[in-house]
Amino acid sequence: EAKRLGHGKLVLFDDLLGSRARRRQFIQSELRPAIIQGQLFLEYQPQVGIDGGVRGVEALVRWRHPRFGVIRPDEFISVAEETGLILPLGLAVIEMACRDLVALRAQGVALPYVSVNVSPRQLADPQLVAALMSALRQHGLGPADMELEVTEGAVMEVNGAESSVLDHLSARGFRIAIDDFGTGYSSLSRLQRMKVDKLKIDRSFIEGLGEPGHDPMLVDMMLALARRMNVKSVAEGVETQQQADWLRAAGCHMIQGYLYAKPMPLAQLGAWMKTHSGEHEDDEDVWSPTI
Ligand code: C2E
Ligand code: MG
Ligand code: MG
Ligand code: MG
Repeated sequence: EAKRLGHGKLVLFDDLLGSRARRRQFIQSELRPAIIQGQLFLEYQPQVGIDGGVRGVEALVRWRHPRFGVIRPDEFISVAEETGLILPLGLAVIEMACRDLVALRAQGVALPYVSVNVSPRQLADPQLVAALMSALRQHGLGPADMELEVTEGAVMEVNGAESSVLDHLSARGFRIAIDDFGTGYSSLSRLQRMKVDKLKIDRSFIEGLGEPGHDPMLVDMMLALARRMNVKSVAEGVETQQQADWLRAAGCHMIQGYLYAKPMPLAQLGAWMKTHSGEHEDDEDVWSPTI
């Protein structure tokens, strides 16, 4: 939001911290206390199956700053990565996701899992697995209740160690999703060897789907790849019915985007889930694509 400076002038976060260096400095000095003081919170965006049933929700972190209002993750995640603050931030996110999932289920909301974004630096943290297991255990949850979203770049750029962490997590029963698929570069042979559950096709490929003159070749290819790997496909950033119709006809398993719901705070999610839960929400394989 805005900050009132001297001379009675209202200044937006963007104006005040316009340069990258200043933002970075601001985040470096204010993010650590913010984590400790509980200024971070999660919003949730539903992932909707082809039959309209809700399959899961993705947790997206926000920072409620006392002076600047709500700050979006694009503003602070990369700096948190660079400075190492992503480790305590990531722990706070995992903890909140567990707590919120338990709270939702206690309200009678049937939710198979919560999806959490995990950054490369977290994957390289030798304590990640123990921290995840301990958070889940403390809330009476298990690995099957959590999906970990890792970007394609993060998975492929690492040379070995982190991808074996992923295999380890997968062996423990965590669901693994490749986020922003199609924007990084993938070693197809590594992709074939990896134990992933889901490919999330990046929003940039979804734009224009179903419009005359638009060539859907790349989305077609990614959907075919997902089918052949026997993993679920999710389209990110679906905003129009036209895109959803195209994706449904092409055999995409799940849709996430403003068309169904924007990310929303926990308080809203319970009510949203209750009005949108179809009959199929606990039958994950009710719809199977023809190859
Ligand atoms: P992401 O994981 O790819 O998340 C999807 C982003 O697309 C979210 O932005 C979401 O709000 C937005 N989005 C969803 N549907 C639509 C749509 O229909 N249209 C448009 N235009 N946008 C849509 P958000 O919440 O700002 O998050 C941005 C990125 O920040 C995330 O991209 C993720 O990479 C990162 N992030 C968010 N939370 C966390 C976290 O807890 N930990 C880590 N490491 N990264 C996070
Ligand atoms: Mg994600
Ligand atoms: Mg994404
Ligand atoms: Mg993204």
